[in-house]
Amino acid sequence: MQIVRTLAHLRQVLDDLNSKGATLGFVPTMGALHAGHLALVEEARAQTGVVICSIFVNPLQFNRAEDLARYPRHEEEDLALLKPAGVDLVFMPEVGDLFGGGWEPPVYDLGGLDTVLEGAWRPGHFQGVAQVVGRLLDLIPCTDLYMGLKDYQQCLVVQRLLDTRKGRQAVLHRRPTVRDAMGLALSSRNLLLSAEDLERARGIARTWRWMKEALAAPPSGAVPLSLAAPPSGAVPLSGAVPFSPSAPFSPSAPFSPSALIEGGLHRLEQEGLRPEYLSLVRDGTLDPWSGPADDGLPRALFAGWLGSVRLIDNELLAP
Ligand code: AMP
Repeated sequence: MQIVRTLAHLRQVLDDLNSKGATLGFVPTMGALHAGHLALVEEARAQTGVVICSIFVNPLQFNRAEDLARYPRHEEEDLALLKPAGVDLVFMPEVGDLFGGGWEPPVYDLGGLDTVLEGAWRPGHFQGVAQVVGRLLDLIPCTDLYMGLKDYQQCLVVQRLLDTRKGRQAVLHRRPTVRDAMGLALSSRNLLLSAEDLERARGIARTWRWMKEALAAPPSGAVPLSLAAPPSGAVPLSGAVPFSPSAPFSPSAPFSPSALIEGGLHRLEQEGLRPEYLSLVRDGTLDPWSGPADDGLPRALFAGWLGSVRLIDNELLAP
């Protein structure tokens, strides 16, 4: 496994690889790697001749200096994970090198995908994502790009970026979210959580289960969305924050997307999270899901806080 830290070295190594005509799989990351990242590497390894992984904490996508400053950085551990995973080249540039040499970040037309949901709460975030991915793709002419559905909106933004780029286009492979045994989506930011907050974070997965059960309940059922009657057998609550059965929530319109969202938000708050948003979109888009008559499947998107740590997650609410 080659470790490449400068653009000059990268160009030289890529010249060698290109001369072999290899298909090139690329996994961009910000490091503090976990099994979610490794699943992307594994897929790239299975599908492409050469696997490149980048580790770069991209300042352009952070809209809070404090978040950037304390983003976990675990270079040694990351390299120790990537080597046995069969990565051929790890690219770990410095900010000044990657964004230096007169490079100006382009302003991309992301078709509005960058200004809603995450984009509304983190202005400039997706421009920053597109700018770093665009820059990396200029340097690394991959045939296949691997990203996680954990960052669902990011996948849509990057697909849009690929669609608007000239020349040969890399294929974007979107991998399902890797979760722990209790359903918590693996995330580098989980490293910043206390043990209590980790347990609260698992409330997101409990909320997904609750929303799925609520959707699956027959419309004739008494109050499928009422928190007064949590769905039976839905949630292994071991160690969970107790869920108040007397919560004064009663949806005005059972099965309407807004009632499901209202119930989900209430549940997240009961779990100790501070939601920023919970939305239902038609899977594959950011368009609102309009209810059971919608031709698409509902995907729930969440962002919220535990203390000073912001988490995101999403789940397809289909059987
Ligand atoms: P990050 O290092 O957080 O920027 O993530 C790098 C890539 O790994 C992105 O494409 C993420 O969507 C993906 N990723 C992060 N967490 C997970 C996870 N739990 N499961 C699958 N992919 C993930």
